[in-house]
Amino acid sequence: MLEIVKGATKNTGNIKFENQVQELFHLLNLGIEKIEAKQSTGPKFSVEPFVYCDELTRCEIPKRGCSAEEAIIALSEIVEGGLRPQSTNEVYNMVPQPIPETVAAASLMQLYNINAIMDSYGGKSLLFEQQVSRSVGRLVGWDNASGISCSGGKQTLLYAIKSAIDRVAPEAKYQGVPDDLVILTAEGAHYSIEHVCELAGLGQDACIRIPVSSSHGIDSEALEKVFEQQVRLGKRVAGIIACGGTTLDFLCDDTATIFKASQKVCQRMHLSYEPYLHLDSVIGWLWFSFVSASEFELLQLELSQTVVEKIKSVTSRFSALEKFDSFGVDFHKNALCPYSSSFFVRKKALEEERHSYNPLVYGDLSAFTETFENSRSSSGIASAWVSLQRFGITGLRTYLGSLLSSAERLKLVLADEQISVLNDSSCGWEVIFSIKPTALLNKDYSTNLLLEGFYDYMQQLVLSGKNVPNVSIIKSFRQNQETSASHGLIIYNMNPYLSEGQCEVMKNDILQCWSDYSQSISRGITDLNRLKINEPIR
Ligand SMILES: *Cc1c(COP(=O)(O)O)cnc(C)c1O
Repeated sequence: MLEIVKGATKNTGNIKFENQVQELFHLLNLGIEKIEAKQSTGPKFSVEPFVYCDELTRCEIPKRGCSAEEAIIALSEIVEGGLRPQSTNEVYNMVPQPIPETVAAASLMQLYNINAIMDSYGGKSLLFEQQVSRSVGRLVGWDNASGISCSGGKQTLLYAIKSAIDRVAPEAKYQGVPDDLVILTAEGAHYSIEHVCELAGLGQDACIRIPVSSSHGIDSEALEKVFEQQVRLGKRVAGIIACGGTTLDFLCDDTATIFKASQKVCQRMHLSYEPYLHLDSVIGWLWFSFVSASEFELLQLELSQTVVEKIKSVTSRFSALEKFDSFGVDFHKNALCPYSSSFFVRKKALEEERHSYNPLVYGDLSAFTETFENSRSSSGIASAWVSLQRFGITGLRTYLGSLLSSAERLKLVLADEQISVLNDSSCGWEVIFSIKPTALLNKDYSTNLLLEGFYDYMQQLVLSGKNVPNVSIIKSFRQNQETSASHGLIIYNMNPYLSEGQCEVMKNDILQCWSDYSQSISRGITDLNRLKINEPIR
């Protein structure tokens, strides 16, 4: 054992904490220097094409360990091909650059190795977890909310579906999940819900999607109809996952519609249970900060009428949240935190959840009895907590208002005779647009195929390390709403202070690339007949 340590480095042995800290800063600086040396302008770190199985034949644990510096230098390759949110051209999806204080918070938890398994191990990390949950709950009038920090929005959905099973079929805890349970959600709700149903033991078929015809979500008749159909088929609707805003077109259900329709069916069909209601607000939670905003407070933010109306349209749909059981929050999406810092927030107080008749005190609280993890990182808790302290309610409002205002600015700059904006009505800050090809190009190729080709062309540029906007694509945008739905390119800008000048630059860059691309087709360099794109996740 001693030999290995000696062979490796002076630092794997027993060293004083203050020296470890110094070494940490040294290694962080070294790593940053190496990563920055790779490429530091475009929206993606460039990467050479590689084949997984080839790479994997070559890997093995070295006979003799290397030095700490050597390990970090070799590690720096890990970012190649990854998104670079440090670039203003990184507009692919909701991937912001976290602020230093949230990264520091997460790193501190790693340095001190705080395990949020239970309070006697992780100290107040469990208290801070509840502070985050309760304070976000308070934004919507849940005065006793409790919650669970977890690694991602998908896990908030898994907690929701687990809670739905526990509600409707408590025997499942011991006997396994019965086969008559289903979950209802909107067409257009997150794509992971089927997989979550599978992971929860319900199976993917238990996820029943309800068609929607607008970004205002499921309508009452549609929900009642599907709910009743399921009951007639002998199913129990364990839970309804309402949409609280999605990345594209901000699909957001009206909580009152969902609650009332669900109640109606329960009464009409004399059901002995009520479905568990969860709001997938991993994005939409940021709008919670406006729920109790007065007209005066809104005025003070100096937002455009359009932005104010969009915010109000969203917050009005949260009016029946008091009837819901839980919601999800992704601090890594829109609270400037690093991955992953998500919260599953429940209306019920901790004591009620834990069936504790006495107030819980330090020493009482174990998370592992209900978390998916046993040992659990407290980095997400720490960064979420710091984020909320730094923003404050006004900060959250300003951040959202600025993101939405930036999107409006970008839409104004983009729209002209060559570019049309397809999602003016969206309540989110994504910008979806189409570029009009020349008649000559359109003679040989459809506009949709040309847009797919352009997306592919831009991806190649980005992968080679070029600093051009990393646009994404959606096929047949609003196909559920419009008969002539066409493809759209997407700019998902996360810079809250995108200036008109920056919008112009982005537009000119895109049009320059479009012109190069068009020429490349005319010259036969780009061949669209063999094109096959993978539609990006959203
Ligand atoms: C991103 C997202 C999820 C999944 O969240 P992760 O943090 O990626 O696990 C779920 N629902 C919605 C609406 C999302 O936007």
